[in-house]
Amino acid sequence: MPAKLLAYPVFAALIGFTIGGCQEQTRETGAPEEEQNDSERNEEAVEWSYEGGTGPDHWGELDDAYAACANGKEQSPVNIDSAQVEEDEEKYDVEVNYQSSSFSLANNGHSIQANSAASENHLVINDEEYELAQFHFHQPSEHLVNEQRYEMELHLVHETENGDAAVLGVMIEEGEENNTLSDLWDQLPSEETEEDVNIEEPVDLQALLPEDQTTFQYEGSLTTPPCTEEVKWMLFEEPIEMSEDQIQDFKKIYHENHRPEQSLEDREIIKN
Ligand SMILES: [Zn+2]
Repeated sequence: MPAKLLAYPVFAALIGFTIGGCQEQTRETGAPEEEQNDSERNEEAVEWSYEGGTGPDHWGELDDAYAACANGKEQSPVNIDSAQVEEDEEKYDVEVNYQSSSFSLANNGHSIQANSAASENHLVINDEEYELAQFHFHQPSEHLVNEQRYEMELHLVHETENGDAAVLGVMIEEGEENNTLSDLWDQLPSEETEEDVNIEEPVDLQALLPEDQTTFQYEGSLTTPPCTEEVKWMLFEEPIEMSEDQIQDFKKIYHENHRPEQSLEDREIIKN
C-alpha cells in the first residue's frame, strides 16, 4: 500500500484530536468565568449609549464581550462610495420571503424595536435560511451613501439557526406618509418598556421595502455592542419615504442613535 493512503487516516485522527482538545479546554475555562460575570451583572448586558463615557468611542472598553467594537476589522456602518462599488459580481443571492404578520413593540433604551411574534418572515441567502428576529430604526441613518446621511435607517435583523446574522437596511427620506408603519407609529412607546406592546394590526413588511430591489452588499458587523462580525449586510439603494410628522414622532423619542462611520479597510462593496 502506498504510504500516502496510510498517512491520511493518521493525519485526520490527529486533527480530530487537536480540535476536540481545544474545545474541551475552552469549555472548562470558559464556564466558571461566564457564571461569575452573569451573577455580577445580574444577567444584564453592560450599559452603553450614543454619547459621553459610554458612547461609541468607549464601547470596546466597557466589557470584554464588546472588544470587537474597538478591535474589529470588519465593522459597520460604513460609507458607500458609488465610484468604488463593484457592479459585475454577485455576492449574496438573496430571496426575500415576507408576508403580513404580527409584531410587538419595545423601547429598549437605544431604539424602538418591533419583535417578530411568529416565524413567518425569512430571507434565503445562498441557499441558507435566515429568520427575521426584529426590526428597528436609527435617526439619522448609520450608513452613508457618498458621505450623505439620510433622515433615518431601518434595519431588519435576521438569524440562522446557528446564530449567523444578516441585516437588510433601508434608507428613509422625508416625503409621503408611510402607511405601512402608521399602526406602529400610533403606538410608539416613548419610555423604555419592560414588556412589549402588542400591535393588533399585522404589518406588511413586503410593502415597506423599496420597489427597486438593488442592494449594496458587504460583510460587516452589528452596529451596536457587542459589534459581532461576519454579518451579511444588504442595503437597498432606493430609499423609502416617511412624512415629516412621522420622523418628528420618532425624533421625540430617539435622535442621534447612530454609530459613527467605520473604516471599510480592504472590504469590497458589491451592487447587485
Ligand atoms: Zn441597527
